[in-house]
Amino acid sequence: MSNAPTPELDAEKLYENAKASIQLGIEDFQISQKDENDGGNPARALSSVRNLFAGMMLLFKYKLANSVDTPEDAYRLIHIPPKNILPRPDGSGGIEWKPEDKFLKDKTIDVSDIEARFKTFEVNVDWGTIGKLRDCRNHLEHLHPQNTLGELAGFVANLFPVLTDFINDELEMSPQNVLGSSWEIMLAHQTFYNKQLAECETSWLDAGIPAGMQEFLQNCTCSECGSRLLKASPKSLEQGYTVESDEDDFEYCCISCGEHAPIAPLLLDSFEHEFFYWPPDGDEPTYEQCQNCAHDTYVIAEGSCRWCNDELDYKYCKYCEELLQQDDQGNGGLCGSCNYRLHKDD
Ligand SMILES: [Zn+2]
Ligand SMILES: [Zn+2]
Ligand SMILES: [Zn+2]
Repeated sequence: MSNAPTPELDAEKLYENAKASIQLGIEDFQISQKDENDGGNPARALSSVRNLFAGMMLLFKYKLANSVDTPEDAYRLIHIPPKNILPRPDGSGGIEWKPEDKFLKDKTIDVSDIEARFKTFEVNVDWGTIGKLRDCRNHLEHLHPQNTLGELAGFVANLFPVLTDFINDELEMSPQNVLGSSWEIMLAHQTFYNKQLAECETSWLDAGIPAGMQEFLQNCTCSECGSRLLKASPKSLEQGYTVESDEDDFEYCCISCGEHAPIAPLLLDSFEHEFFYWPPDGDEPTYEQCQNCAHDTYVIAEGSCRWCNDELDYKYCKYCEELLQQDDQGNGGLCGSCNYRLHKDD
């Protein structure tokens, strides 16, 4: 290892970059949401989400850099450390342990590194929400910009409370001062967005979604634009349809883009996502087709169907108390092996 001095890090520069990145992200956001005839450009959605996420990460790094006394330690904290510590001859018959390489100059820590350092430095942020924001950013990287506008609106609305809490609680600064005009834009957007979201949720109360499927509604997103702002179609409600009995006809309408389409496939998709299993990895099935309603929503571990709520006549084997499945029901309350044992001599 050379004896070059450890590089230093200018925390204030991080802070300025964080603010600039968030501001750019909000400008992109506004332009992406405007009508194209009005100077809007949907293609800016991706750079919006990139800039906003990067800005939040820079603020996090700024916090770390400020948690130590020297610019050298600040530099070490936010750069990837050397991976291998190797033994070397010390020149007098012994050994000394030295890192194989230096801190990588251009490689700063990523989301999971920040999470680990926040733990040791006891900095609190809502990693559950940040994980969702990261997934959203990664998801948008792969979509056509037209299909991301609705999702971006949710991203900005969910980012806002994370940012303001962090600036308040951990930086002990005023979010309004730090974020400037972006703060007001985000606040107005979040308020508006949450009001719309609440209206959407209320609209489904009389839609007759099967009780066991209701929890999946919150993960349904518009198939056109990715928005979570889906309302029960007033027309479907007027017709007296219910999701349970009229699954081909009961539609959602998307507040962001106006798309109308049946809600049932979205509910079934998010059910599958929740109970996902992958046989090539050796996963056991978690659900199967229901013998009562023919939806693929029979949850094996629950012994009942999420769609029609059909329960088994016999839940446990009368002899060995093993959990019974749909296919065991013909045995009059016995599991396959007990049934075989008791009837093999018949
Ligand atoms: Zn939409
Ligand atoms: Zn069923
Ligand atoms: Zn048995």
